[in-house]
Amino acid sequence: MLPAEVLEQVKKDLPVWNGLGYSAMEISHRSAEFSALLDQIESDLRSLMRIPDDYSVLLVQGGATLQFSLLPMNLLHGRETADYLTTGSWSSKAFKEARKANSNVHEAATGAQHNFMSLPERDEWQLSPEAVFLHYVHNETIAGLMFPSIPDVDVPVISDLSSCILSLDMDVSRMGAFYAGVQKNMGPAGLAVLVMAPELLERCRDNLPDMLSYRAYARNRSILNTPPTFTCYVLGLVLRWVSERGGVKVMHRNTVAKSDLLYGLIDQSELYANPIQKSARSITNIAFTLADPALDEKFLQQAERRSLVSLKGHRSVGGMRASLYNGMPMEGVQALHDFMLEFERDWQKGR
Ligand SMILES: *Cc1c(COP(=O)(O)O)cnc(C)c1O
Repeated sequence: MLPAEVLEQVKKDLPVWNGLGYSAMEISHRSAEFSALLDQIESDLRSLMRIPDDYSVLLVQGGATLQFSLLPMNLLHGRETADYLTTGSWSSKAFKEARKANSNVHEAATGAQHNFMSLPERDEWQLSPEAVFLHYVHNETIAGLMFPSIPDVDVPVISDLSSCILSLDMDVSRMGAFYAGVQKNMGPAGLAVLVMAPELLERCRDNLPDMLSYRAYARNRSILNTPPTFTCYVLGLVLRWVSERGGVKVMHRNTVAKSDLLYGLIDQSELYANPIQKSARSITNIAFTLADPALDEKFLQQAERRSLVSLKGHRSVGGMRASLYNGMPMEGVQALHDFMLEFERDWQKGR
């Protein structure tokens, strides 16, 4: 969900952006205006996330998924290895894709034996002494499982922040790199943000095709070909929107308040349940099941009548999922909360 104010602004700007006489979809990516937009995106991201000055901020195409392949392709030379934590669908996919790029990558720990409902204990991680980096997914979007803190290891940590960027206040200087597809919490689909420390960027391979090379992106200020200019424009608006509302600390506080409201209800309920280990519950993606899955369809239909949509859980896990990205206002969460209570009362009466 995008913030309503951002969509209103897009509506105003759609035919004519910035008094230019044409729209952000039509702008030349070589123009001074577009260059100024990229500058704004970079400086807003840097100040919102307190990104260290010497880290590179890249806008890369192919979404978060392409980074699953590009990270090992760029960072690993010859027989070098990296550690992967698999804690759900996205990190498993990241590991699978990394394997195709470099068969030496190593699964250091997995939550698979617990159906990815809990995080592997820190003392069970089997880290390889030679690893170039450790890859993990901070928030598993589908199951709603989140690391309570950035993993503490001796090698650079690379975090997939796709579904928690700008909602969690994090010390990104503790990461060697992080990335996120912009479409979950920052704009429409079409780009990933990738931020990398200089020591990692320097070790990136330089003999890859340009479109696959982080160093080529860095040398060319992310303009290797025509970028999705409209996505960049909306991303710029969303970053401004977050800044104007007090920044990531405020977003984090709001997200905790929104998720507390739903988890509070779920934990009191006889109808709803959340299967995730409590200390690893996501604050942006709240998964819940109904005591009787035969009620799922009815729940979704009645919710839709109140304009509560996109609640169906991912096809791989079933159940329900409420995503509480920054664009979702408290009133929307309150409306869902009230509907869930009412639905449960009706169910109690019918029993
Ligand atoms: C959605 C998602 C992805 C995939 O993003 P794309 O931009 O569609 O490739 C990767 N990782 C996480 C954690 C996600 O939530």
